[in-house]
Amino acid sequence: MSHSPNQPILLTSSLHVDDARKAIAALVDDLIQESRAINDPADIETVALDKAIDRILAVDLLSPIDVPAADNSAMDGFAFDGKCLDTTSPTISLRIVGTAFAGKPYDGTIGSGECLKIMTGAVMPAGCDTVIPQEFTTTKDELTIEFKQDQLKLGENRRLRGEDLQQGKPAIAAGRLLRPSDLGLAASLGIPTLQVKRKLKVAILSSGDELRSLGQALDAGSIYDSNRYSLTGLLNRLNLEIIDYGIVRDDPASLKQAFIEAANKADVLISSGGVSVGEADFTKQIMQELGDVGFWKIAMRPGRPMAFGVLKPVAGKSLARKTLFFGLPGNPVAVMVTFYQFVRAALLQLNGANQIQPPLTQAMAEAPIRKKPGRTEFQRAILGRSADGKPTVRLTGSQGAGILRSMSEANCFVILGHEQGNIAAGDWVDIALFDGLL
Ligand code: AMP
Ligand code: MG
Repeated sequence: MSHSPNQPILLTSSLHVDDARKAIAALVDDLIQESRAINDPADIETVALDKAIDRILAVDLLSPIDVPAADNSAMDGFAFDGKCLDTTSPTISLRIVGTAFAGKPYDGTIGSGECLKIMTGAVMPAGCDTVIPQEFTTTKDELTIEFKQDQLKLGENRRLRGEDLQQGKPAIAAGRLLRPSDLGLAASLGIPTLQVKRKLKVAILSSGDELRSLGQALDAGSIYDSNRYSLTGLLNRLNLEIIDYGIVRDDPASLKQAFIEAANKADVLISSGGVSVGEADFTKQIMQELGDVGFWKIAMRPGRPMAFGVLKPVAGKSLARKTLFFGLPGNPVAVMVTFYQFVRAALLQLNGANQIQPPLTQAMAEAPIRKKPGRTEFQRAILGRSADGKPTVRLTGSQGAGILRSMSEANCFVILGHEQGNIAAGDWVDIALFDGLL
């Protein structure tokens, strides 16, 4: 499904989750093309390594050195010239002529019939290409080792210069969402700073007359605004700049003002509430007046209604860029599901990340799960392990879209595909973990 930001996406029938994802990706791509956001120098910052976690690398990081810088030993053992392995005698015996430590190379040359005691990481001495691990050797006398000829081959237990990284070649590709290992890798190359994409400015707001801020009393029919807090948590995981517009009343003037401000300040606006069928029409009118916004009915549960599009910079303000807009449903679980399924990937894509979808895995359903074909379901669940070591998954209680506890107790989504019907106990199902090692 192709889409241009100048055409609102209006849909009355249900949209397949995959098509929603494709439409979002296409529009984000249009925005990137329009603003050239990826390569604009104004979008690149230089940050110290210890501040670079969860930022997106803006340009390829080229290795200034070969890693390892020299051939070195992968084991504690004895280095020697592997040519001596080409023999018919079953046992090889070599004379120890010295020792090489990591950081303290041996300068001499090792001749035929000789070896060097060598520690892991120590530079291989001239004339040596093979290391016999210490545990494979016996000592004949204090200065002679013996080992079986068939215990290793020429070149074994040696790390080659440049085997890990070659000078001038990319060590980390642009677009990497930087993880702890990337910071360690940059440090191992002696690089103290990284060029990263600037933090996206993401505005959030909650809409609804029934919402109260924390600290306010709950009058009849009112509820606390929880969505901004789950959204803030989700966004903080992406190391973004959050602009919080708080709770916006269901009245045209407040809504319009908040939208205009957000459109002029933020790269992305995420609102929750106000997009379902029961809402006053002015919400939708304002969203359309200020941008190109479509109202989607997505074939998914939870999180069916969603508004999506762009807000245009308002006349008189010299904002070069359009603001991406997500009008998420109001239900607390639906907010989180639509964020994980659509918003997170769009934010990463907009900021130039090259890996935007979290990995899926599978587990066996502990109990039957009811499922209607014709929509994608995201059920909240706990991943465990069966007695015989297989991954298993069980749902966390009531799965209503407003029941945040089902989300809080869960550690993964069970994702039931569009065409899928009922699941029997023991069936394998797709799961996406909320947290994982990175
Ligand atoms: P809506 O999409 O505005 O019709 O809201 C759907 C449901 O989610 C209603 O029960 C709302 O009260 C609830 N809701 C909307 N916004 C929030 C919020 N920020 N925090 C908690 N619940 C909300
Ligand atoms: Mg509402």
